[in-house]
Amino acid sequence: MRKIIIAGAGHGGLTAAYILAKNGFDVTVFEKVKREQLGHDWHDMLLLDAFDVCGMKRPDAEHTSPPLPTAAYSPNKKGKLKLPPDARESLVYMDRRYLDAYLVKQCEEVGVKFEFGTNCFGLILEDGKVKGLKVSCIADDGAAQRQIERRASDVYADLVIDSAGMYSSIKANVPDEFGIKKKFAENEVFYTYRAYYERTNKKTKIKDDNNVYLYHCGIPGMSWVVRREDTLDCMVGCFVPFDEKDCREAMLDYQATHGDLGDRLFRGGIRANIPLTNTSSVLVGNGYAAVGDAVAMTEPLTGSGMTLAMKGGKCLADAIIACGDKEYNRENLWQYQYDYFETYVFPNLFGANIRKLLRFVDYKDINMVLAYKLITPKQLVVLSKAVPDLIRNTILASKAKRIFPKKYNKKRVKAWQEVYEKL
Ligand SMILES: Cc1cc2nc3c(=O)[nH]c(=O)nc-3n(C[C@H](O)[C@H](O)[C@H](O)COP(=O)(O)OP(=O)(O)OC[C@H]3O[C@@H](n4cnc5c(N)ncnc54)[C@H](O)[C@@H]3O)c2cc1C
Repeated sequence: MRKIIIAGAGHGGLTAAYILAKNGFDVTVFEKVKREQLGHDWHDMLLLDAFDVCGMKRPDAEHTSPPLPTAAYSPNKKGKLKLPPDARESLVYMDRRYLDAYLVKQCEEVGVKFEFGTNCFGLILEDGKVKGLKVSCIADDGAAQRQIERRASDVYADLVIDSAGMYSSIKANVPDEFGIKKKFAENEVFYTYRAYYERTNKKTKIKDDNNVYLYHCGIPGMSWVVRREDTLDCMVGCFVPFDEKDCREAMLDYQATHGDLGDRLFRGGIRANIPLTNTSSVLVGNGYAAVGDAVAMTEPLTGSGMTLAMKGGKCLADAIIACGDKEYNRENLWQYQYDYFETYVFPNLFGANIRKLLRFVDYKDINMVLAYKLITPKQLVVLSKAVPDLIRNTILASKAKRIFPKKYNKKRVKAWQEVYEKL
């Protein structure tokens, strides 16, 4: 039985683990935190079709809620754009802790083994190939109230999957020769603070439940306040690193605009980051494959990181299964990267790059556009959907023309057909 070990219980790693275990592989996941601490303590957007794609049962509807309409505010808050709820089919909100526990349960049911409280701190390398992970057990030192690492050991496997998130220490240790991007630059990150605070006065007259603030408090970024039953879900999101003072100012500003926002912290209250860049150009090495935030699978600013990590996990598992008895080297694992790029990266590349432009917009222009209602929600939909589609089709059309076979050749005709039929 071929042995696969996974560093970090990220969503892509768990999905791959589930499919591989179902197909007879020996799979173990090493996760740094304890079982009950897995996942962020908040709600996230997720496309439920990710479960269908991966052949996993969808979580029960009682654990999901529908998207809300949004009011987007200009930086000076004088302009406002009302947007209908995101209409993508199967899009829901779900508690992240619930989702992660659900994925772990699905995995355990098909035989995936978990080692919680285990830090993957290095790679075992032999002749330029990844042969396994160096792991250590993390234990609480009750007296000193800190965590200490004990019992380091080497775990060998046929393949190491890196699902340890955007700051993966595993990725940082792969041989340079793999060409894997080891670190995100400062301007390739979306910096956030997120916390649920008590909702103090439920009788406050409420205009909107889901408020998005562009360039909130003058800092380039996108922040929000979502009103829930007993709490307000506050997110401060910036395109540049921000400090405690910026964060406090943002929260005070939220209190000034939301009369029901109290001081008592209910959930979250942490700083966490998201990749704000295109998917890394190489996902595989010899004995190694990365998935999820480790290789920036998220589509910038769309709340898609978990969905895409899961779909990436499916592409990876399929490629591993297709390898059969062959070695897990980059040639044989390339199919994973090919499938993921063809299915999820290339079709969305243009839209993703347009969204990244938001970083460079002058906030005064946003004030003007929203104050004078220079754009309506309908036009925004056209801009964000139809324009990328038009450009995508133009590019596809030129590609279809370029690869149109001069003579009949079964393979080439099929390749041409595939491009042409997408137009
Ligand atoms: C404020 C905020 C809001 C977001 N909202 C959404 C949303 O609405 N929808 C959405 O799809 N995405 C959202 N995301 C993005 C989402 O969190 C990620 O894109 C998604 O989790 C994919 O990351 P991952 O599964 O690869 O890694 P992660 O979720 O980061 O998981 C990595 C795991 O690896 C473990 N780990 C790390 N290092 C080690 C190590 N050395 N040894 C062992 N284990 C290790 C970690 O403990 C963690 O459990 C949001 C992110 C933030 C910060």
